[in-house]
Amino acid sequence: MEYLLKQFHDPQLCQALVRDLQQRIGDGFRFMEVCGTHTVSIFQSGLRSLLPDNLTHLSGPGCPVCVTHEREVAAFLDLARQPGVVVATFGDLLRVPGPEGRSLKAAQAEGAQVEVVYSPFDALQLAQDRPGKHIVFLGIGFETTAPTVAATLKTAKRDALSNFSVLSLHKLVPPALQALMDDTACAIDGFLLPGHVSAVIGTQPYAFVAEKYRTPGAVAGFEPVDILAGLQELLRQREAGEPSIANVYPRVVGDQGNAKAMALMEEVFAPCDTLWRGLGELPGSGLEIRSAFADHDARQVLGIEWPEVPPLPGCRCGDVLKGKLSPEQCPLFGTRCTPATAVGPCMVSTEGSCAAYYKYRL
Ligand code: SF4
Repeated sequence: MEYLLKQFHDPQLCQALVRDLQQRIGDGFRFMEVCGTHTVSIFQSGLRSLLPDNLTHLSGPGCPVCVTHEREVAAFLDLARQPGVVVATFGDLLRVPGPEGRSLKAAQAEGAQVEVVYSPFDALQLAQDRPGKHIVFLGIGFETTAPTVAATLKTAKRDALSNFSVLSLHKLVPPALQALMDDTACAIDGFLLPGHVSAVIGTQPYAFVAEKYRTPGAVAGFEPVDILAGLQELLRQREAGEPSIANVYPRVVGDQGNAKAMALMEEVFAPCDTLWRGLGELPGSGLEIRSAFADHDARQVLGIEWPEVPPLPGCRCGDVLKGKLSPEQCPLFGTRCTPATAVGPCMVSTEGSCAAYYKYRL
């Protein structure tokens, strides 16, 4: 296995692929990756410095923490203040800034009960261990994490765990791609599509990108060779004048996706309109908990609404997430906004593009 993985780091193969990109690049090409893991991998592996100058790399809305809307952040910060409520969350939401510089971390310091968990099932365990408290799990993430949260909700219902609920803030990737395509100012020539999400949904949900918008797409893995092969495929499609959705990650992604995971999602969640930071409200881009599981839907159980809040002053995360602005072009980048003094979520999250640009600055 280790030997096989090493092949995806092979320097000679990478150099050959980079040379091929240089020959094919022509007048230039703007590609967007829609996965925070791709963002980090492109920097961490050093690929960004090897790519031809006119192969422009844009980081899209692929970091779940970053796309969580300001109003959703304000709602869960209010929730953390409610007596008797314990907020269970993945660690990367802890420092996400909300209105007036509030965060879950600050709330925790002020006495709010905020617990970091590594899986939604850990939150379920908290509910079993603390029957006098109501545990709310913050369900953020894309199609990759939603099936596990769905399985957790099914378990909570089966065990009649009345002190456990989920605040579903999940987002779906294809509607975000559609919004980016509809905004011609984003000027995206091709998409490097997310390997993890595609392992669940397959390749068909992206077909509209090639068919309606005549834009190439390639599902790619996260090793350097995977990413370069994905870029090579995008340029090949452009040369051929035949946009399609290619799968250059077949060792993990099947074109039909994972039927079991999708059935779980379908059973527990229904698509709904939802808010995205930077992209606004997108039709059918979120997942709400179906009425059969209403007893474990935090919005229903605790009457949660999305409060009106002002945008974070000076933060340009919205434009960064649409590829309209490189993190370094934000006036606060590296001055007022650093990982230690983050103004926006793109600098907080380990998968945020501002954080990646800062950490791996060339
Ligand atoms: Fe927001 Fe900071 Fe990124 Fe600017 S550098 S867009 S303030 S997170």
